[in-house]
Amino acid sequence: MAKTIGVLALQGGFEAHARILRGLGHAVREVRTAADLTADGGLDGLVFPGGESSTMLKLIGFSDLWAPIDAFVRSGRPVLATCAGMILAAKAVAGPEQASFGWLDVDVTRNGWGRQVHSFEATTDDGAVRLVFIRAPRLTRLGDGVEVLHTFDGEPIAVRQGALVAASFHPELADEPALHALAFG
Ligand code: GLN
Repeated sequence: MAKTIGVLALQGGFEAHARILRGLGHAVREVRTAADLTADGGLDGLVFPGGESSTMLKLIGFSDLWAPIDAFVRSGRPVLATCAGMILAAKAVAGPEQASFGWLDVDVTRNGWGRQVHSFEATTDDGAVRLVFIRAPRLTRLGDGVEVLHTFDGEPIAVRQGALVAASFHPELADEPALHALAFG
């Protein structure tokens, strides 16, 4: 069934996510205000894209979005968080430390897979999924309820906890719709 999926569009790579979601048959709404989360009966899910997580945090503050976003995700609706989005979702953030929502019981280190100069393409350890890493966060701790979806170099790079799917890499830039389909159908 087609759903309306929001994409947080304050900063970063939201357009490529919108393209993939439309390709899966979903309607897409760019989210910049609290009203965008609730208009027309609300959203069926939300994407937190890549970008610069520290900038996103500032813009979330300026836009008074912290509490509405937190309530949306805690309502249990499906969420996909990629790269900077995964940093926002994590329980604890290092490299350097910064605030996060803590929905996902993992710890991450920002730029843990390398800085801009170390952006790279690869495939998952099973060869099934093309990977684009851009200053990607590294998962340094996984809670008991966190399921590993993909690994690279033997390390987790995509995880799921309940209705929340998160990835270190950019499936939207590799034209890989599988995680979007897993999160939203
Ligand atoms: N390094 C970025 C951050 O800390 C994330 C990079 C990305 O989203 N491509 O926010």
